[in-house]
Amino acid sequence: MKKRALISVSNKDNLQEFAIGLDKLGYEIISTGGGTFQTIKDAGIEPILVEDITGFPEIMDGRVKTLHPLVHGGILAKRANEEHIKQMEENNIEPIDIIVVNLYPFKETLEKAGVSKEEIIENIDIGGPTMLRAAAKNFEDMIVVVDPTDYASVLEGLREETFDFEKRKQLAGKVFRHTAYYDAMIAQYFMTETNEEFPETYTVTYEKVQDLRYGENPHQQAAFYKNPIVKTMSLATAKQLHGKELSYNNIQDANAAVEILLEYDNPAAVAVKHMNPCGIGVAETINQAFQKAYEADSMSIFGGIVALNREVDAATAEKLSEIFLEIVIAPSFADEAFAILSKKKNIRLLELEMNEEKAANHKLTTVDGGVLIQSRDNGKVAAADLKVATKREPTEQEIADLLFAWKAVKHVKSNAIVLAKDNQTIGVGAGQMNRVGSAMIAIEQAGDKAKGSVMASDAYFPMPDTVENAIKAGVTAIIQPGGSIRDQDSIDVCNEHGITMVYTGMRHFKH
Ligand code: 5GP
Repeated sequence: MKKRALISVSNKDNLQEFAIGLDKLGYEIISTGGGTFQTIKDAGIEPILVEDITGFPEIMDGRVKTLHPLVHGGILAKRANEEHIKQMEENNIEPIDIIVVNLYPFKETLEKAGVSKEEIIENIDIGGPTMLRAAAKNFEDMIVVVDPTDYASVLEGLREETFDFEKRKQLAGKVFRHTAYYDAMIAQYFMTETNEEFPETYTVTYEKVQDLRYGENPHQQAAFYKNPIVKTMSLATAKQLHGKELSYNNIQDANAAVEILLEYDNPAAVAVKHMNPCGIGVAETINQAFQKAYEADSMSIFGGIVALNREVDAATAEKLSEIFLEIVIAPSFADEAFAILSKKKNIRLLELEMNEEKAANHKLTTVDGGVLIQSRDNGKVAAADLKVATKREPTEQEIADLLFAWKAVKHVKSNAIVLAKDNQTIGVGAGQMNRVGSAMIAIEQAGDKAKGSVMASDAYFPMPDTVENAIKAGVTAIIQPGGSIRDQDSIDVCNEHGITMVYTGMRHFKH
């Protein structure tokens, strides 16, 4: 009896060569009745229709094509099991030896502009995954092929008769990864549609963007994966226009820079080092904004990443090109700006798609053997939310500076202290194990510029010491969540020196 291959594919890449190859090897080809049949026929091979085997027509617009015991019995029967073989004979089931299936384009359908919900649902493949999973389960007796780029090596393996247990198992593993990925995309789609926030089981899937040369350190291996249905403005959807491949650390830092950028509507520039902002500037033009971000800390920006929320013009590009930067990220680059920056071999230029859906709502952090999921820190504070704790009220200028500093401190690793003045960070103290330490770093960095500046603290002051040090340096206004049992001590120090302190009632830990 001739060996049989059942083919049913949406993606017809490489299909004709493959069908010809199978035919030459003596396989009988069975196919579903639509595009698959036609494509194989056009290659000069006459496949047998599934419905001629089952005696049952394709019905319900293709919803039921291959879901039949004569198909699934032929896939699932264990060839070494006498009982199975007997049942095959009793029921006129013939074995199928190769299953070649790829699925309805669910992801591509989701991405189509103006697609209807009906069309999305119709592109959930039912019979395809069923055949794939059945064949993968029975991999000891079957060859199952889900990926058109595997056709050539499958033919070679068949020709050379090298299809051993391990190779079949590998193909089966690929199938289960693929069907899980496919269903996870569907689950994610439903989770969004039904606003399911923290369900009993959490399903998410990622597809590889690229292998990375190494991880955080050269002795670690790494790859970058992205969520296939993410539509939000994020690093994962940014396009690289120029420069070497992104590194693991580049991706983390660029992601941090993009997240900070999301805080600002006016022209803003953000410089990031090791996932903390070393300079943030907001101004009327992107050129001025970058100047501020640069002057905020002209030392730390060296080797850093700069993200901007407006098109980079030639003048800004000139300035950017004067320093050594790993990456520049912007919604676009003017032609002249691109010409200036792309002269530098080592700089990477990324185009960030700015869109309405600004950011994914969930943040995932791994712990060994698990994952923590929380909603994104979308906390925003406006002037009207501030509670003045001190005798002196902040001036209008101070309020503006305080709100600017508050947005910045949210993105600095805790314990976080930011000093700012006039839409510019002037001192950033990040990641110290006590708040006084972070404040000392910020104050020292600000130097003389601290006079007349404001200070933001991501969490409350357990002691008045940080406030005392800030006042000594010349800080005139402070923003913090409030809520320490010793708040009054800090208030007293402020009142003694005539400075103002406001509470946000909201903490911004970032660990
Ligand atoms: P064709 O090119 O033959 O029209 O369709 C091929 C596609 O149909 C493949 O993507 C395959 O996964 C899918 N398919 C095969 N059998 C069934 C079935 O019984 N139900 C559904 N919904 N899809 C099927």
